Amino acid sequence: MGLLYTNMKMFHFKEKLDTLPAASNEIQAPLHVRIKPTNACAHDCWYCAYRKENIQLGKDMEKRGRIPEEKMMEIIEDFSEIGVRAVTFSGGGDPFYYPPLPQSLEKLAEADIRFAALTNGARLDGRLAELFAAYGSWIRISLDGWDRNSYAQYRNISPTEYDRMWNNMAQFKKMNTGCLLGVVIVIDQKNAPHVYDMVRALHDIGVNSVKLSPCIISNDQQKSIDYQSSCADAVTEQIERAINDFHSDQFQISNGYRLQLQTFHKAYHWCPYVQINPVIGADLNVYTCHDKAYNIEQGLLFSMQKQRFIRGWFADKKTFMQVDPSHDCNHHCLVDGKNSMILEYLDVDQEHSVFV
Ligand code: SF4
Repeated sequence: MGLLYTNMKMFHFKEKLDTLPAASNEIQAPLHVRIKPTNACAHDCWYCAYRKENIQLGKDMEKRGRIPEEKMMEIIEDFSEIGVRAVTFSGGGDPFYYPPLPQSLEKLAEADIRFAALTNGARLDGRLAELFAAYGSWIRISLDGWDRNSYAQYRNISPTEYDRMWNNMAQFKKMNTGCLLGVVIVIDQKNAPHVYDMVRALHDIGVNSVKLSPCIISNDQQKSIDYQSSCADAVTEQIERAINDFHSDQFQISNGYRLQLQTFHKAYHWCPYVQINPVIGADLNVYTCHDKAYNIEQGLLFSMQKQRFIRGWFADKKTFMQVDPSHDCNHHCLVDGKNSMILEYLDVDQEHSVFV
């Protein structure tokens, strides 16, 4: 396998990059869209950003929101027409709780649009597992507890759900599929002493990748850093040991533990990624990004209540320039590193670019 987690993917799409600045009149389709088909989820993770009051992400989320099936089909038709390359289903809730997910996946496969999903793993079985095994690109399961009881406490569910999730992962790996199975470990003070053992267990079961992320407890960078500070050194030592012992082409470990805590403050004034990887919410709003989903005041690009995606997307380039990250995005941002690289690329003095 080549590199799965890297900030460089975007540089394989130079034509798209060159259309991003306001100075270009051209608007191209987004390359990759996240869709939040439903806000329903049977788990109740204590740190879930969509349900925590002090985090701007998800602040306007309606828990029972769901994209109507006809609208989902319309969205996929639009994506096919304009050339969207990939879709990731994520929360809000858990996309595997969206009843028309099988039809949606089949339609994406017919349209030759790659798809992936973030899920708690409880429903990775039956028809959905078959569809992902046949046509999916990757699935990433979220993990926090290190055993049955801790997992149950993190999520306010029965301990048997831990067995279900591990069994679903093991069965999926036996399906001889090209769909990659990954896990994200959300690290907080409680599971901090168990990080190495959790990575080892995932390595032993044969998953393809593990992403290590800090639990974000606030929009305030210092509060999130302070929260992690009591365990940060111990966690870092375990991550380094795990990378040394297990990382390979076939089992890739992505360490975002400290990096993600440095993504809160931005000096730039427009966001390239808005045009690359926007988000569609279950409320039929299109948002700038994962980190501003369900924040209508700061993250809304346009609504699809009365129009198709295609119409809103190509209406006006100014739509993508409304957010000023230096002012509006002083919170966690998954793509801050990617944005910085793209902005530097676009800012190269053309007269000097040949002096490579
Ligand atoms: S800078 Fe980050 S948080 Fe702000 S709009 Fe862009 S992707 Fe979203």
